[in-house]
Amino acid sequence: MTKHIFVTGGVVSSLGKGITAAALAMLLKHRGYRVAMQKMDPYINVDPGTMSPFQHGEVFVTDDGTETDLDLGHYERFAGVCCSKASNYTTGKIYSNVIERERRGDYLGGTVQVIPHITDEIKDSILSLANPDTDIAITEIGGTAGDIESLPFLEAIRQFRHEKGIGNAIFIHLTLVPYLRAAGEMKTKPSQQSVGILRNIGIVPDILICRTELPLSKEHFSKLSLFCNVAQEMVIEEQDVKNSIYEVPLELAYQQVDLKVLRLLELPPRELHIDEWRTMVQRVIANDRPQVTIAVVGKYISLRDAYKSIYESLDHAGIANNFEVIIKSIESEDLENCRGYEPLADADGILVPGGFGNRGIDGKIKAIQYARENDIPFLGICLGMQCAVIEFARNVLGYPDADSTEFNPQTKHPVICLMKEQEQVTHKGASMRLGAWPCTLRDGSKALIAYGKSEVSERHRHRYEFNNTFREAYQQAGLFISGTSPDNKLVEVVEHAHHPWFVAAQFHPEFKSRPLCAHPLFQNFIKAAMENKQKNTTT
Ligand code: GLN
Repeated sequence: MTKHIFVTGGVVSSLGKGITAAALAMLLKHRGYRVAMQKMDPYINVDPGTMSPFQHGEVFVTDDGTETDLDLGHYERFAGVCCSKASNYTTGKIYSNVIERERRGDYLGGTVQVIPHITDEIKDSILSLANPDTDIAITEIGGTAGDIESLPFLEAIRQFRHEKGIGNAIFIHLTLVPYLRAAGEMKTKPSQQSVGILRNIGIVPDILICRTELPLSKEHFSKLSLFCNVAQEMVIEEQDVKNSIYEVPLELAYQQVDLKVLRLLELPPRELHIDEWRTMVQRVIANDRPQVTIAVVGKYISLRDAYKSIYESLDHAGIANNFEVIIKSIESEDLENCRGYEPLADADGILVPGGFGNRGIDGKIKAIQYARENDIPFLGICLGMQCAVIEFARNVLGYPDADSTEFNPQTKHPVICLMKEQEQVTHKGASMRLGAWPCTLRDGSKALIAYGKSEVSERHRHRYEFNNTFREAYQQAGLFISGTSPDNKLVEVVEHAHHPWFVAAQFHPEFKSRPLCAHPLFQNFIKAAMENKQKNTTT
């Protein structure tokens, strides 16, 4: 029987609930348990796919093509769990399922209400993780205790625990213990109030995890325990980590959170095997790795979360090569507005990530031209690949008006165009080419060298594609189409053969990189960037 853990948050958002849940999953997994994870997001969008990265950060895409919250990226990276459409529900999705059923007449004349219909739907969604292959299911409830829109989710998990019983479902509440500089004190009151809100709903946390800048004193532990009605040994301190988010599982393990969870769930402790992870973290925090600088040229640069998986993948590639990757984020419009290439001057490698819309495109194209002409290792991802194709058309093929029809539908050289199956699409939600698709890599390509195999599967999220009308012209001018769909109809990877390392992919490799298993394209890109750096320092 699958046991359940519910993770809620209080006081403020951005406490790192996702990372904490993922870190706990990682520990349980390394104790030999089969773990599944999901997130409930209380907003009304059916999924985050239609939301601006500025609002929501990155949209994480699963193998099955679900557009999800970026916390699922943490779940996959920390715990190696494979997320799917069962891993992310929103208020919008829950309500649309219930409303669809109501329209079908399934409720036989009954009045459809938040309790029991919406809460039942939430409980069914939680149960979608429960199966014979899952020992422990972790459900993170997005938002903060006290939000109006979180209420049905909290009521549903209260009912769930009531129905399943104490040893089968537990509550972990993540809270903030702020340090008030002016008073020189740490305050437990916000945590007391947040637990008070949960208590009003009928939830008493079994474990309280306190996010804090500074260590908690003995008095803090006893105060939090007494006023929050949580056993003292179940009050956990989660101090800010200094170097890497991958330290979090080690911090939790040090306080035996995983063992406490297992005890509450009435499961045997089993041995913990995290030596490899520990070594990886030690290597990161040693702070003595040679540095390599990567410029990331994008349009959502001001929000770090917008390129979460890309930054993480660069980090993983650094770990694999034993280099420290310094990420230099460049707003593509700033590059457009400067005369030369100053912002790129210290870049050992350049990465242009995915994106949508016209803004900042010229800056990206300028960065790509610079990388191509100056032999700077380049990795293009999705829109970054499409920009590389446009750049080549404008500056090598001699089509100055070449463009994607996303930006200029009237161009005479639509080198990137809407995919055939997208022409009839009218709804924006979940209608792109999404999820894992196979790709065949050509002999002699950098991509093939990186992957070490010719058949790969990568995740996608796009509406536009390389226009095959121009394939011949490109190939004659020296663009190497190094990866295609197995039927050769869709261009998936392009490279410049006479460049040290220039690879651009229509897919998103960043979704499959892991801290202990860097993505091959990122790994080889970073290696090439370091070679470029070394070449420049010796000449
Ligand atoms: N806007 C482009 C498309 O839809 C690229 C999408 C992306 O980078 N994810 O094809």
